[in-house]
Amino acid sequence: MVNWFTKLARHRQRNSSQSGDISSVDALPFYLEKNSGLISSDQLHVVHQFRECVENQLKILRTALNATSVVLFWSGPSVDQLTTYSFSSQSDGLVAGTFLTGSGVVGVLKDRSEIALAPYHQGSPTILYYHDSTHVGSFFAQSLSCGETDQRITGSYGILCIDRVVQDEWSPVDRSLIAATADQLLQNLSLSRDLIFTDIERRTLQLAFDGLRVLNLALDIESVYRAATQAFGLILDIDLFAISLVHNNYHEFCYISGDCSEQFLNHKFVLDDSLIGQAVKYRRVLPETSSYAGRAPIVNGSNLFDMYKTVLVVPLLQEDRPITGVLIIAARGEGLVTRNCRDMIEMIAAQVAIKIELARSHEQIQQMAITDPLTGIANRRAFQRGFTAMYERARRRTGSFSLIICDIDLFKRVNDSYGHPFGDQVIQQIAIQLNEVVRTGDLAARIGGEEFAILLEDTGLSGALDVAERLRKKVENLSLLFQGEVVPVTISLGFAAFPQNTDNQEKLFNYADQALYRAKESGRNRSVCWHDVA
Ligand code: GH3
Ligand code: MG
Ligand code: MG
Repeated sequence: MVNWFTKLARHRQRNSSQSGDISSVDALPFYLEKNSGLISSDQLHVVHQFRECVENQLKILRTALNATSVVLFWSGPSVDQLTTYSFSSQSDGLVAGTFLTGSGVVGVLKDRSEIALAPYHQGSPTILYYHDSTHVGSFFAQSLSCGETDQRITGSYGILCIDRVVQDEWSPVDRSLIAATADQLLQNLSLSRDLIFTDIERRTLQLAFDGLRVLNLALDIESVYRAATQAFGLILDIDLFAISLVHNNYHEFCYISGDCSEQFLNHKFVLDDSLIGQAVKYRRVLPETSSYAGRAPIVNGSNLFDMYKTVLVVPLLQEDRPITGVLIIAARGEGLVTRNCRDMIEMIAAQVAIKIELARSHEQIQQMAITDPLTGIANRRAFQRGFTAMYERARRRTGSFSLIICDIDLFKRVNDSYGHPFGDQVIQQIAIQLNEVVRTGDLAARIGGEEFAILLEDTGLSGALDVAERLRKKVENLSLLFQGEVVPVTISLGFAAFPQNTDNQEKLFNYADQALYRAKESGRNRSVCWHDVA
């Protein structure tokens, strides 16, 4: 037969997935006292009043029954423990402490809710709270079960013990007094608990709201990542926070904050049977309990998470859309994630998923606004911005830079002879050549129909001439085929340098343009420096 303790133990096991929650091993009233951080100071006195009230009730019961001691045990702090929560005693020998569930005389409480031992023999199971129980004539214990229907405190239970010197039977009046006290204790507990829970829920909502507000202010992707760290930091004491984005069959860490922040950044991992892989596959928060004993690998082949007691992998989901990625929250502390906390984390994660998607679209739109759709290189707007930025930089650092403008020679003829689509291909091929001659820090752009520009950072006239000539030759040597026939294409280039030719931005552009005009005038397929024009 399943006994009372086994039933409770099973309950606790079932509910311990919400580690640290009210329904887990840290049951009321220990929960209230251990989690007072979540309770506002206004409500904290309720916890203390509850304890005082319990003490008074035990004292009244002891007096009424002429008992030596009345002791209230409560389940906790861990799953197989009972702790002396409060007592009223006339004996000096009472030992308050934590005992193993089911040990001593209370272990006799099996399928029954009470036990009455009158007389209490010395051969009877020991009374936990006495070293020496020779003075005990009779003993009574009554269980205080919070009921399996109350989900928030399932698994939490108390045991009320009474002993006295006389060996008399426990009379119906005695028993009804004990039962009434047990009821009163449970009612007080329930009242204080409701007050506290309302407060915890209010605080939880406030934290979630603060987190969401931080998140809502973020626009670009990096600020979304930073805001997410901040939002989760409001709820939990986090030591590591990471975001890994999912692409097909792998995920890539795009943000890590906290411990070992650089180790994984921009590293890609296959979505395997690691915790991240599973969280992505099943689209759910893992592990089921947030206490992490380093068993399941978070990322295969890595010990990055070994030092944490709490780890959560939270999928970034938007209804039935493909998964965006995962958040990894890790902390050295244990049992931090209450059920409220887990709910909040999921709620904020859903918002992070939306914000990441929005930030990505925002970036795409911004990228589109500065990219030429035909060639994929910078457009005129991006060129203008880059030109001004390079000019300002060079001026500040008293550095130099060059501008090359080039134009396809007799391109109208190409279009007329081979058609516009072929003309487009030519433009695309030339853009590829431009990309090949520029270095990091330079900028290649299509600034008109068949006109391009190159900005060369830290480059004077001779460097610009080199690049211009390299590009001219590359284009000249292109084998652009139209129906098997090679179509020769050339470009003309003009260039000028800051500050060699001018320290004025507008003039610099005009000089390069005039040099290009000179290149056209003097026969095309050549590079001309402003020096040669002036
Ligand atoms: P020049 O050597 O003097 O530059 O002669 P050109 O024929 O290249 O000069 P013009 O400015 O007369 O012609 C430029 C031509 O480029 C006209 C236009 O049809 C063509 N063009 C402009 N944009 C595009 C485009 O996006 N695709 C294609 N295929 N042709 C374009
Ligand atoms: Mg032109
Ligand atoms: Mg042209």
